[in-house]
Amino acid sequence: MADISVMDAERLCGWLPRRARETHKGDFGRILLLCGAVGYTGAPALAAMGAARSGAGLIFVGVPEPVYPIVAGKLLEPMVFPLLAQGGMLAESAVPEILARLSGCDACLIGCGLGRSAGTFAAVQAVLANASCPVVVDADGINVLEGHIDVLRGAACPVVLTPHDGEYRRLMGRLPGEDRMGAAAALAEKTGATVLLKGHRTAICGADERWENRCGNPGLATGGSGDVLAGILVSLLGQGLPPVHAAAAAAWLHGTAADRCAARMGEYGLLPSDVAAELPYLLP
Ligand code: AMP
Ligand code: MG
Repeated sequence: MADISVMDAERLCGWLPRRARETHKGDFGRILLLCGAVGYTGAPALAAMGAARSGAGLIFVGVPEPVYPIVAGKLLEPMVFPLLAQGGMLAESAVPEILARLSGCDACLIGCGLGRSAGTFAAVQAVLANASCPVVVDADGINVLEGHIDVLRGAACPVVLTPHDGEYRRLMGRLPGEDRMGAAAALAEKTGATVLLKGHRTAICGADERWENRCGNPGLATGGSGDVLAGILVSLLGQGLPPVHAAAAAAWLHGTAADRCAARMGEYGLLPSDVAAELPYLLP
């Protein structure tokens, strides 16, 4: 197994695409976010702001139709569109439109606040079977794969999984335990995906690189933090970083932005939206 590497600002700058003077928005990734449900209107907005604040060129956000006006009202820069819904969550009949939107995208994120439904499962299955771009599967995108881990093995595209401990257990049937890098490696081995196992110290495992994230603080232990991280990750994938580098860089940016915020405002009142707003100061 490869040594464990630790991310820093210098490496990040070397990995980011250069912004030539003649460049345009199409050069920095067209990304698709499939997030949100009734009761989870913040998740798509937080993921979209994580993406927008980390350099994504064009951001499309598909949400279940009942929450469309709410999410669209929160976001200025991303393009929000409604998807067919049932019971406040994605309907299975939303799949054809999702696949049409997916073609031509450079990266996709599915799962933040999507809820657990037959429609979410159908969407995850369809995206993984048809995407030609890298796909981040987070939160309910992972939860609906409980008992269906084989869907990940059969994916047509590079996949990045971003579980916290509970989501890890739904896939693997056990908690990660003390050896978090070993646990991430076991999930990566079983699924063929790049794994970012979240926690106080986040472990990242790809086919032949392993990274440990040592920044971030308990101010991140609040609802919505993971949505911002997922947005940063899909943005970096859309800008062409390979999955394991995108994952290592996203965890570092997220943790370092949170540390800078905590130095000014403390950990107690720190919001995930503050973390997203801090990202520009860490980027060129
Ligand atoms: P989620 O549980 O999906 O909202 O994701 C939480 C995010 O916050 C992950 O990126 C975690 O690594 C991070 N996080 C949560 N608790 C801590 C902590 N105590 N120290 C550092 N990072 C944390
Ligand atoms: Mg989460």
